[in-house]
Amino acid sequence: MIEPGSTIGILGGGQLGRMIALAAATLGYKTHIFCPDAGSPAMLVTPFATVAAYEDEAALASFAAAVDVVTFEFENVPAATATFLANLKPTRPGPHVLATAQDRLKEKDFLRSIGIATTEYQEITSLASLARMVRDRGRECILKTVRLGYDGKGQVALTPESDLAAAWNGIGGETGILEDFVDFTCEVSVIVARTEAGACATYVPVENQHSHHILDTTIAPARITPELAMRAEAIARHIAEKLDVVGLIAVEMFVTQSGEVLVNELAPRPHNSGHWTLDACMTSQFEQLVRAVCGLPLGSPDRHSDAVMKNLIGDDIQKWRDAVAEPSAKVHLYGKNEARPGRKMGHVTRLLPKR
Ligand code: AMP
Repeated sequence: MIEPGSTIGILGGGQLGRMIALAAATLGYKTHIFCPDAGSPAMLVTPFATVAAYEDEAALASFAAAVDVVTFEFENVPAATATFLANLKPTRPGPHVLATAQDRLKEKDFLRSIGIATTEYQEITSLASLARMVRDRGRECILKTVRLGYDGKGQVALTPESDLAAAWNGIGGETGILEDFVDFTCEVSVIVARTEAGACATYVPVENQHSHHILDTTIAPARITPELAMRAEAIARHIAEKLDVVGLIAVEMFVTQSGEVLVNELAPRPHNSGHWTLDACMTSQFEQLVRAVCGLPLGSPDRHSDAVMKNLIGDDIQKWRDAVAEPSAKVHLYGKNEARPGRKMGHVTRLLPKR
């Protein structure tokens, strides 16, 4: 067990790192942020920080020497960085989890290999193969970059009439993945925490509404049948086990018109759709991550309230003024001083009586 008083190293300095650091502090841990950007949100809540590139091995080695365990707050940290650190300190989740989750093809191949349904997908390696596949499908599909995509970045919707050359160049002309467009009834996600010993705690499925591909609202719990909720939870637990996750994994899924559950994406870290747990659950996703990576018993994921979480994106940040005066709203601001369009600046969770 890594006991309170020890130091948790966090790769990445965004709001997720900030909320991990705050949860860690509550349990008496110190946190040390490793991030290329000085003054990032996580660095504003802990005095220990290394500002260096993820490829800087000397900086990584001294970071490893200063911490007792390493975790990460976004999955686009190079897998080689996680492998380098894993040779020096326990790194949780392990580098293999990062390598799978940061490559959409590897991720979907893995899901298929363990019997989990996903959207139909194909690897695209050239404009010619893109043109052939889009024509063969004859319906709307989505072309995505294989790596470094999030919040809808690096993806474009296509039909056989679209300008395919522009789409191919738009994703950088590198390997892509072409998916069927899913006409879903709703998007849900499930977050699972898992310890090294294999204990799991699963949060109730929540419903996610996106605007411009960015999460806008999370409704907890999701408005789906108990049978669908059980299926979604079972899928997420199965993935956490088969991927041998130590820490957290968020599983994003589509619920289709015919009642199928298709996995869209995995995120092996705290997830925006789990922010409501800070205010409505016995144990937040951030505390759960700290418990899992330090080998403490997991806390209860049960909720005492239902909740609706709304992101404050870009200029929405000004809405904090009204929200902070609402009796049942909890306001979380990330300390970012520039409100660019599409930038997550904070969120508001409104609590409701538990159904
Ligand atoms: P992603 O980056 O894959 O998480 O995609 C961001 C959002 O785009 C998802 O949450 C969906 O709202 C939408 N999206 C992604 N892939 C598909 C798909 N195959 N069919 C329909 N919508 C999709």
